[in-house]
Amino acid sequence: MSSSISDLLASKTLDLEPYEQLYKHYHSHPELSNQEKETAATTAKHLSKLADFKITTGIGGHGFAGVLHNGSGPTVLLRADMDALPVKELTNLPYASTVTQVSERTGEESPVMHACGHDMHITCLLAAAEHLYALRSSWSGTLVVLFQPAEERGTGAQAMVDDGLYDKEKHNIPVPDYVLGQHVMALPAGKIGSRVGTIMAAADSFKVTVFGRGGHGSMPHRTIDPVMMASNIVVRLQNIVSRETDPSDMAVVTVGYLRGGHTENIIVDHAELGIDIRTINTATRERVIASLKRIVHAEYIASGAEKEPTIEETRFFPQTYNDEDMEGKLAGSFGEFFGEAFDPQIARTNASEDVSILASSQGKPSLFWFFGGTEPEFYAQKEREGRLIEDIPQNHSSGFAPVIQPTLKIGVDALCVAALTFLTRK
Ligand SMILES: [Zn+2]
Ligand SMILES: [Zn+2]
Repeated sequence: MSSSISDLLASKTLDLEPYEQLYKHYHSHPELSNQEKETAATTAKHLSKLADFKITTGIGGHGFAGVLHNGSGPTVLLRADMDALPVKELTNLPYASTVTQVSERTGEESPVMHACGHDMHITCLLAAAEHLYALRSSWSGTLVVLFQPAEERGTGAQAMVDDGLYDKEKHNIPVPDYVLGQHVMALPAGKIGSRVGTIMAAADSFKVTVFGRGGHGSMPHRTIDPVMMASNIVVRLQNIVSRETDPSDMAVVTVGYLRGGHTENIIVDHAELGIDIRTINTATRERVIASLKRIVHAEYIASGAEKEPTIEETRFFPQTYNDEDMEGKLAGSFGEFFGEAFDPQIARTNASEDVSILASSQGKPSLFWFFGGTEPEFYAQKEREGRLIEDIPQNHSSGFAPVIQPTLKIGVDALCVAALTFLTRK
């Protein structure tokens, strides 16, 4: 008879102290999307200490995977993302990042910070790999630990698949029966949660360029003002959510940047808008994108512009959807292991993720969950004060940094419990 997952995990102790040090190393050495060279090298070196993992590096950029064949049974893939963000860290932590990096994508130099907690994801996955390796006589199947680049750009998972991640002739990583991943969030540390169905929204980003006719600021009648065109589009786009979307459904339309002109007395010849859309159902997604295109085109007609605007998709993330059958099994294990700390109906977030591509590209299901990283006392105090939104630093903010414990322990346990739920236990 197989023992419970709790008993199994307790049968071998895992020393997390070296992983706390490793976490601090990652935190103070962040790297931008598609530039995770040192992070990947450090991580692969650590994983190589577990001798039986077969490591393949350089998949879709700096991505890599370790495979542990451990007898017959299902293939379970655990995934961590590795990239950081162009944010200046303001946490005052002794291990805060002071790194700057030139982005290979934009050519601009900026401060870099692990403002989304991917450093915690990497550390948790390495520690979970060690623990599952130590327990290998108690389970059978194939374990894949995958370290993904460029999650923040929404391109990393797809790049790994496109580069032949599962291709027998190329990297030949076994196709997983189950893909599992996690994200640290601004929830109380110690808490963990998941839900059936959509847990994160789809995201589509666009760069829109409108073209007018430039000229002297004092002679607007000789020009077609692209700044005015862009401004009209910004306002009109807000009707998509307020007037065109069913109030019981959900859509977000954000203009993240608007660029046009350099000085007061010149009307420029073009302006640029960066637009971000979030949705949680496919039909709505298609309708919102169609509305965006219609509004941009209508403004081109309305202003009498002579050159058609361009609309370029710059990022795409699918919905992150938790398979019902898998979620049922996971909720059983998490409920048993974490007790009250586990929330099986955690609120959906409209942030986005590309992890599901590692599964959906192979017609397989995936599962994703959140775990807290905010100091629990601080969280409780802000909850009492009614200031959670104002005062708790969220992912991507300059003040976001999980407390190392119990965040790390929960993240490691969660990966182990989830993996052992789907591998065959002896
Ligand atoms: Zn992020
Ligand atoms: Zn993230």
